[in-house]
This record gives sequence, structure tokens and C-alpha cells, in this order.
Amino acid sequence: MDRERLRAEFASIGEKPFRADQIMQWIYRRGVDDFGGMTNISKDLRARLESSFVVRPPELLTEQKSIDGTRKWVLKVGGGQAIETVFIPEKDRGTLCISSQVGCAMDCAFCSTAQQGLNRNLDTAEIVAQVWFAAKALGGDFQNERVISNVVFMGMGEPLANYNAVLPAVKILQDDFGFGLSKRRVTVSTSGLVPFIDRLREDVDTALAVSLHAPNDDLRNVLVPINKKYPVAELMDACRRYTAQRDHKMHIVYEYVMLDGVNDSPALARDLAKLLNGMPAKVNLIPFNPFPETRFKRSRPEAIEAFANILRAKNIIATTRKTRGDDIDAACGQLVGKVLNKQKRRLGDIPVRAG
Ligand code: SAH
Repeated sequence: MDRERLRAEFASIGEKPFRADQIMQWIYRRGVDDFGGMTNISKDLRARLESSFVVRPPELLTEQKSIDGTRKWVLKVGGGQAIETVFIPEKDRGTLCISSQVGCAMDCAFCSTAQQGLNRNLDTAEIVAQVWFAAKALGGDFQNERVISNVVFMGMGEPLANYNAVLPAVKILQDDFGFGLSKRRVTVSTSGLVPFIDRLREDVDTALAVSLHAPNDDLRNVLVPINKKYPVAELMDACRRYTAQRDHKMHIVYEYVMLDGVNDSPALARDLAKLLNGMPAKVNLIPFNPFPETRFKRSRPEAIEAFANILRAKNIIATTRKTRGDDIDAACGQLVGKVLNKQKRRLGDIPVRAG
């Protein structure tokens, strides 16, 4: 529960709402999982909490460490299924990449999670628990020396297809009584679910990344099939609405996977520059990360550099994402977890409104 709901919950059992703030601090700021140790709470309330609730991290299935320091945890989520959480250390920050669903239904052509299909949504606890688990595993102090400085919803799943669980999770990550991350340090990444980009804009102030991958409908329909439902022009309109309501420094990051001979030509770079012209945009080029049985290949480094330079010549900030953790299959698009009994979902079944 986010703080607002937890406060209401405490009020409904006849407790003061500020108890919610205290409990959240114990759990998220101090990493305490034992109600007995929450010493500013009365013995009586501690006992009531102990009898009705648990603070429990997910169980670890496997753990791997890349030669570049990237860490990957495969966490059990019941029924033999598992999700993946990845920590990417850098000089000036530490980014945790979390999952929002067991699998994914978006079916993007170049993503290995897509091959898994979707089993189910994670709930808010399972989403937030990944951060709690990683913070503990990394051995950092929850309050002072922050090992995790940024959280990105770029693991398994489409976060905006699980909006009702993701929204409270974003709030808990940003809450001063929760993980206390600033709005710029929590990024929701989406393949382009337009109605939910609008909902997100209204409900919370957070950084947004959009997986664009192509500047026109013909190509994007093939690479990111949700485009058939929400075409590029509609997506860009939603992005304009999103940034218009934010402070002027808030860019949207457009992710663009670089696929050799598919979407990496200079002509497409020029089209992309035209599409983003005048928008608060940064482009993040992601060299394609291969996985078994994919028909795609990574663009040549010169092609990526040329593509970036065309964007830069049009005054668009373009960066190339450094490939991290690919030796342990922890790089973008390589997360598969363990997805069983996937639902046969077609794009038509994706809900247009959150419940
Ligand atoms: N579903 C959300 C969250 C996933 S974010 C979204 O689409 O934004 C993961 C990012 O990695 C997305 O931009 C995705 O398109 C990209 N990606 C997927 N497969 C990839 C691959 N094989 N190589 C590089 N990037 C990939």
C-alpha cells in the first residue's frame, strides 16, 4: 500500500494515521522486517501487526554477478515462476532495473521476454520487494549511503499494462517515508500504452521512457505490435501532453534498439529527428542484445555512431546505452525469468482503462 492507503487502513482499525508513516519508515528507510523491533510503536499495536501482516522479501532462486559488476537476481514469485531484477553499478549512481509482470504480452519482435508470453501481473508488494531485497543484498544502509540511487521499470513486463499495481509502487519509491527517491530517479518505461501515459501524467510526477524503436507506423507495427493499437502520431501526442505538464527540464527518454539493417539507416535517423523536432526529448540508442533463436543482429558500431550524429546535428541529445551484464544474460531484452502457463493474450485483450 502507498502511504495514503496505509494511513486509511490504520484509521479503519482505530489507530492514528501517522502510524502508517512510522511503519513505512521502519520498513523502507531502515530495512526492518520484524514488527517486534519497531520500538516507537506500542506493544499492543506491534502484536496486532504481527498477527495480521508479514514483511517478507521474495525467495532467491539464483544470483549471478557479471564481470562488469552487474548483478542479477532471479526471484521466486510462486507456482514455480520467477522474475528477474538487475543492479547496474556506475561511477556516480547505481540503477536497479525491476520487473512489473511475470513475462510480457506486448510481443515486441526483438525482445526475449516477449518469447515467454505473459503469465500474470505482479502485485505492488512484489514490485516494491525487489527494491527492498536488492538494497539488503547490496549491503547498503537504507538511509545514508544509498547503493541504489535510481530505479527503472525496465525489467520483465509492460508496467503500464499493470497500472493499478505499478502506480502505488512508484509512489512508495518516491515517498519520503518510503524509499525516498526523487521523481527524476524513478523511471517508468513503456512500449506506448497511450491511455495509461495520460493516467500516469495525472496521477504522479515521475520520469518516463518510451520504447519507440521506429519513427513510422509501417516499421513500428512490426517491431512493437502495440503500435497497431496506438500509432506513432497518437503516441507522440500523449508524450507532448506528458511533458507539457512537467517542469521544463523533464525530458522523455526515447529508447531505440539498434537492429542491423532493420531500423538503423541514416534516412530513419532523419525521420526520427523530424518526429522529435521541438520536443523535450533525449534518444537512448540501445545496441541490440542477442538471445537464442532471434533473427536480428546488432547494428555495427559505425552505424550507431552515424545514427547518433544525425540526431545531434538536429540538436537532439543522443546517447548510446552501454551494454551491461550481457555475460549473465542481464542486458536489456535478455530477461526471461521463469514463466509458466502463459496466457494466450492477443493485443485486442489489452485493457484500455485501468479498473
Ligand atoms: N515494456 C517496457 C519495459 C521494458 S524496458 C518497455 O517496452 O519500455 C526494456 C527496454 O529494452 C525496452 O526499451 C525494450 O524495447 C528494450 N529491449 C528489448 N529487447 C531488447 C534487446 N534484445 N536488445 C536491446 N534492447 C532491448
